[in-house]
Amino acid sequence: MVALFIKKPVALSPILTAILGMCLVLARPDLQRFEHPAKPDGSLSVMVVGDWGRRGTHNQSEVALQMGIIGEKLDVDFIISTGDNFYDNGLTGINDPAFDESFSKIYIAPSLQKQWYTVLGNHDYRGDVLAQLSPILTKRDSRWLCMRSFIVNSEMVDFVFVDTTPFQDKYFSEEKEKDAYDWRGVLPREEYLSNVLKDVDLALRESTAKWKIVVGHHTLRSAGIHGDTKELVAQLLPILQANNVDLYVNGHDHCLQHISSPDSALQFLTSGGGSKAWRGGISWWNPKEMQLYYDGQGFMTMQITQTDVDIKFYDIFGNVLHKWTATKPVYSPM
Ligand SMILES: [Zn+2]
Repeated sequence: MVALFIKKPVALSPILTAILGMCLVLARPDLQRFEHPAKPDGSLSVMVVGDWGRRGTHNQSEVALQMGIIGEKLDVDFIISTGDNFYDNGLTGINDPAFDESFSKIYIAPSLQKQWYTVLGNHDYRGDVLAQLSPILTKRDSRWLCMRSFIVNSEMVDFVFVDTTPFQDKYFSEEKEKDAYDWRGVLPREEYLSNVLKDVDLALRESTAKWKIVVGHHTLRSAGIHGDTKELVAQLLPILQANNVDLYVNGHDHCLQHISSPDSALQFLTSGGGSKAWRGGISWWNPKEMQLYYDGQGFMTMQITQTDVDIKFYDIFGNVLHKWTATKPVYSPM
């Protein structure tokens, strides 16, 4: 085929070119998939932190210390970062010392020496976005894995990670925002977004796991300063609802928050308390749906089995602020 292109480029009819183009589109690989086995007893323990990288300041180190203590107690299998990994403007490149100063030298507890699955936040897109995605960082610290959108299969639970930043219109349109972002790999935007939505829908439709958890940086539902992300409510939420997703987990608002759906089992969980918090500006929310709003620092854990998902939110002292459990029978439709 390559030889054909080189020898007779003009011989390709527009129809043939179109067909080849379609084949390339159809052949676009699915989301990358990682297997992360549960414990031998069939349980999985996951910790979630977001909005953290500030070289230990704004209580990042104190949150990390408690994560280490709770991580040990729960024997966490892996850690999820909901993005805004490095403030204020992501990494300047693969050699940016912020990677060590905000990550490797902060999360030092033995219990946190596990795999980190990480998405990008809007602040990460303000730096060299390819640096955070680079395997060179994984060589520097083997815990690090950051991708735009991907899947982690853990037997009874599938995690689908979604790159949410490119969905928000204002990063592309507002004068002060427009030139701040590194959109390499995202343009043309419409095509990128449509592929993300298609891939996420397919991953969820094909999932045979008992529990389906979607992770992104931006909020779907939030009483915090950023509120709902209307682009995601319009485009991503219907896909989560159609595929019976159990939990949507995000950061972006620097708080800990749990909102229930009025009309389905889908829960909205914000774990964005990794460092700077206490911003105020909380909006009213229907108390029937609002299970927790905590404006301060902390993190979240999920303990998952075939039949139960236990959620806990912790503050900076390791106190449990809120817990919640979902149960499904051993044999139930997915
Ligand atoms: Zn953010």
